[in-house]
Amino acid sequence: MEALVVGQGKSGRSAYDYLYKHNYNVKFADEKILNLSKEDFEKQDKDRLFEGLSFIVTSPGVSLDLPFLVEAKKRKIKIVGELELGARNLKGDIIAVTGTNGKTTTVSIINYLLKNQERRVFLGGNIGVPVTSFCDNLSDGDIAVLECSSYQLESVKDFHAHIACILNFSVDHLARHKTLKKYIWCKNRITRNQTENDYLLINYDNSLLMKNIPKTKAKIFYFSTKSQVDGCYLSRGCIYFKDNKTHEKLLSLKNLKLVGEHNISNVLASVLAVYLQTRRKDILQDVVNFNSVEHRIEYVKTINGVAFYNDSKATNIDSTVVATKSFKCEINLILGGSDKGYDFDELFKNLPKNVKNIAIFGETKHKIAFSAKKFGFDSYQIYNTLKESVLSLFRVAHKNSIVLLSPACASFDYFSNFEERGNVFKKIVGEIALDENLHLENSKKS
Ligand code: ADP
Repeated sequence: MEALVVGQGKSGRSAYDYLYKHNYNVKFADEKILNLSKEDFEKQDKDRLFEGLSFIVTSPGVSLDLPFLVEAKKRKIKIVGELELGARNLKGDIIAVTGTNGKTTTVSIINYLLKNQERRVFLGGNIGVPVTSFCDNLSDGDIAVLECSSYQLESVKDFHAHIACILNFSVDHLARHKTLKKYIWCKNRITRNQTENDYLLINYDNSLLMKNIPKTKAKIFYFSTKSQVDGCYLSRGCIYFKDNKTHEKLLSLKNLKLVGEHNISNVLASVLAVYLQTRRKDILQDVVNFNSVEHRIEYVKTINGVAFYNDSKATNIDSTVVATKSFKCEINLILGGSDKGYDFDELFKNLPKNVKNIAIFGETKHKIAFSAKKFGFDSYQIYNTLKESVLSLFRVAHKNSIVLLSPACASFDYFSNFEERGNVFKKIVGEIALDENLHLENSKKS
């Protein structure tokens, strides 16, 4: 059978290898043809382009509106996403998580908890491990925990999750999906093919999501930090489970390492998913020991009573606001990075009062400074590098305060990705830890 893979990134290459291994006659699509405008594409010999082709596999970054794919659809050639190709060919149960924010954290917590029981667990999807790279390794009884982006869900047809979880909706990714309605439509496809024996988990506290719960045959359970819902809810520091038969305490969140209300929501979703999958209470308590996923409000070190947190993944304003609201103490914040085209008024409208000092660097530094001034925030300084920003904030930081890198911008001005930016930040913190002179300078302040 002849198959074509569109996109040569990690997912595309993995799909190619998978199909090759399974004896398909597989090729990558010609990038030149993919990039043609509608008019130029019309001029191609289309019969020849699609001759003998049985199906097309797309990578998540690829838009289904490409003239090549629109024509393939017209010709009734099957188009399948990489995630679906893998998911369709794996044995065992799927736990799938989607939402605007918190996907990586939630699948990582679920994976962490499920490691404590006897069934084998595999983590993949949008988290950076293509499903086709491991789907052959699962046997009946194993569990696949899959992070699903809206891009990946857009094209699913046979995808069948035993447990599907929608964390939240907020206005993001609109550039590609054009409308909020389409974006929600994509995410809601996570529940397609679910039956009465499956579960759909919904965040009761997210109003946009509650207004757009998809039609499903699955049993719906909720999670909430505020209300006593059917599902998992938080009450006086403990997580409870309730349904029409039982109402019980599952665990206490005392000593939870994760910070922030948004993470409590992620923990509730994870605990609910793991409890419904295993019905075991004994493996849940370990959630308090879960350390944040790297680069997401990740605790780095405390020097002279000043704690450093790396939230390099915060590449938009929402994430930075969420991060700053996670701390009650004095915050010394590092902002700035590459320019996505938006202004920063929303950021300064929503920053909590305990943000005391801000260091700004990167391509967006003047834009950020402009918004800061506009909203009457005076305690900011502009720097040329991340290092200067970190050092300057450490010099003025008081005991029991934090220095937080949560830049509200992408990283491509000085770094290849947010991971590199986070690693550079951690390296700088490591250097500060060894520099006695800096400690002295800081002590004079405290
Ligand atoms: P995703 O994989 O969906 O991008 P992550 O788990 O990587 O999400 O978290 C990215 C950032 O999103 C975090 O640093 C935090 O600022 C924010 N975030 C995480 N969970 C939530 C949530 N449940 N609600 C709102 N914001 C969140």
